[in-house]
Amino acid sequence: LTVSITGATGFIGRRLVQRLHADKHNVRVLTRSKSKAELIFPAREFPGIVIAEEAGWKDCIQGSDGVVNLAGMPISTRWSSEIKKEIKQSRIRVTSKVVSLINDAPDAARPTVLVSATAVGYYGTSETATFDERSPSGNDYLAEVCREWEATALGVNSDVRVALIRIGVVLGKEGGALAKMIPLFMMFAGGPLGSGKQWFSWIHLDDIVNLIYEALINPSYKGVINGTAPNPVTLAELCSRLGAAMGRPSWLPVPDFALKAVLGEGASVVLEGQRVLPARAKELGFSFKYPYVKDALKAILS
Ligand code: NDP
Repeated sequence: LTVSITGATGFIGRRLVQRLHADKHNVRVLTRSKSKAELIFPAREFPGIVIAEEAGWKDCIQGSDGVVNLAGMPISTRWSSEIKKEIKQSRIRVTSKVVSLINDAPDAARPTVLVSATAVGYYGTSETATFDERSPSGNDYLAEVCREWEATALGVNSDVRVALIRIGVVLGKEGGALAKMIPLFMMFAGGPLGSGKQWFSWIHLDDIVNLIYEALINPSYKGVINGTAPNPVTLAELCSRLGAAMGRPSWLPVPDFALKAVLGEGASVVLEGQRVLPARAKELGFSFKYPYVKDALKAILS
């Protein structure tokens, strides 16, 4: 396949590119910065990869079989009103650009599938409810961002298959929330964060990459699909598992202010979670490499 990817230089995108490249697919990296992308994907290691800044996105998308849309300003920063706006606008801007380029492509050169990222923030937060793909959206800011982000992706021509992946907190070695949480954890010897009762719907990096890959190649992957592991945990459980995996006792609660200091208001994603189940992935027969957080953490911290 030939696949164009926005946000390819990010935490999830890098791994997806490696995976597609290893499987001999042709990858086109759609980026804001060619020089940055060339450092991440050096030609020696990634022969044949195409890297394009915005002016070249059109030529990349035309003739691609599929497009994966992952771009967006990171949410784990301090949220000023400007930044909040950019968190939403960056996603809408890139998504609508991608959608118009797909729609404007001549029929013969139009990609047949768009896999677009969104987030479990769609559902809002709750300590008691359980959400799956049929659940309604929440009423906080991130829920609103996700609704608009998804609606923009759905503006693509009706002959293009769309898979919207509502991604949970991705756990991996090289980035994401966990990399930021681990130093805190060392400092506080890792007790629960806040009350500890909040839900944490996580997914291992390998599994989210596999799910996106599957959504590209398998025509049954259509519509909204939650990208979360089948066994979400509470923060208290996450922290005790993390403590065990790191060989540290879990006893001092990490205060909210400390987490906010490293994650900014984006910490709300971790401090006020939601319990999200991957009902569609299960129906589709998707097989998780890491269904349990204990094994995911072990693999990451080893
Ligand atoms: P990263 O933050 O690692 O990477 C996102 C990419 O988006 C960057 O590499 C960059 O690519 C591009 N980007 C960054 N800022 C902007 C901006 N202001 N305007 C346009 N493009 C920008 O994200 P992840 O890989 O962690 O996640 C990918 C997507 O999945 C994101 O949209 C994220 O919201 C979503 N998601 C991620 C979760 C997670 O736990 N990681 C959880 C839920 C959803 P370049 O510089 O090449 O243009």
